[in-house]
Amino acid sequence: MNLRKRSVLLLGLILVVLSGAAFLSHYLIWAPQAKAQDSTTQSSMILMDTVVDVRVDGPNSAALVDRVFQLMAELENLFSRFVPESEVSAINRRAGEWVEVSPLTLELIELGMKMGRITAGAFDITVGAVLDLWGFGSDLRRVPGEEELQGALATVGFDQVEVDRENSAVRIPQGTILDLGGIAKGFIVDQGIKLLREAGVERALINAGGDISVIGRRPDGMPWRVGVQDPDQPSSIRFILPLDDQSVVTSGDYQRYFMVGNERYHHIIDPSTGYPARGLRSVTIVGDDPAVCDALSTAVFVLGWEKGRTLVEALPGIEAILISDTDAWVSPGLAQAMVTQ
Ligand code: ADP
Ligand code: MG
Repeated sequence: MNLRKRSVLLLGLILVVLSGAAFLSHYLIWAPQAKAQDSTTQSSMILMDTVVDVRVDGPNSAALVDRVFQLMAELENLFSRFVPESEVSAINRRAGEWVEVSPLTLELIELGMKMGRITAGAFDITVGAVLDLWGFGSDLRRVPGEEELQGALATVGFDQVEVDRENSAVRIPQGTILDLGGIAKGFIVDQGIKLLREAGVERALINAGGDISVIGRRPDGMPWRVGVQDPDQPSSIRFILPLDDQSVVTSGDYQRYFMVGNERYHHIIDPSTGYPARGLRSVTIVGDDPAVCDALSTAVFVLGWEKGRTLVEALPGIEAILISDTDAWVSPGLAQAMVTQ
């Protein structure tokens, strides 16, 4: 074979390989999405003070997305202490008396109390009076005085919440303010996911401002991928996590805060001091139940680097990423999943 013939053959071979690769990548990248698009509905709405995205694949996806948003809005109106007609507002207004609530409100409060026990009080649904002193929930951000802080701390104690399952009623002590802000979002996402599973949906994603839960895998058969923000530069991604029928929730000090001088005061309160928890910049929790992940992200943030890690390692089915100013820790199970997926 002369040189000319050989180079033509080689060129031909390269072209075949390239077009094969082009076909393959085209197939991998485009074909599954194009197929999914026929029956995919994706939509966003402001709920729970954040942007909520819902994506559903499969038959009736548009109607199902609407139903999920409707359910989430209804639940927010039951659980938010900033909605005057909510059941939680009724419990707070009538502190000291038994207040009848719907089964889901009871379930959420009981889960909140359970998370208080699991986290040795780092998560506490009665932290409302302390949050109010700092002005979270209103526009009046300020650093409270020590005396008023002690007064508010005296009203904190999740174990003081009484639950009467038989009559579906709840009672909190006078002066105590129930605040479900650290768990309600995850619980509401979970209710949305349950609605979709019961409707037979095999692929979906709900993202409520960083509280994310998915059903199944992506159209191309790979796990969903979720970025974990860099606390210093929230617009850039520090880790990418694979998610397969799971939930992921992140709590960070960059989400809601105010500055006084160089001091950053954020909305995750250490119930043992009344001050915003110090030490970590963000905590990401991966698990099955988004409500549990939501509460744990807040609790591990409060517990800090050492105790937070110990708690994560003690809980089966829970993985985490802890980020401090100088360090990051990825739990072994998650590190493994990030390599293999
Ligand atoms: P985000 O709401 O930004 O997703 P979190 O899930 O960490 O963040 O929840 C923070 C909210 O949880 C606060 O706005 C407040 O309502 C509530 N909260 C703050 N500190 C605690 C705590 N120690 N235990 C329980 N709830 C808390
Ligand atoms: Mg939380």
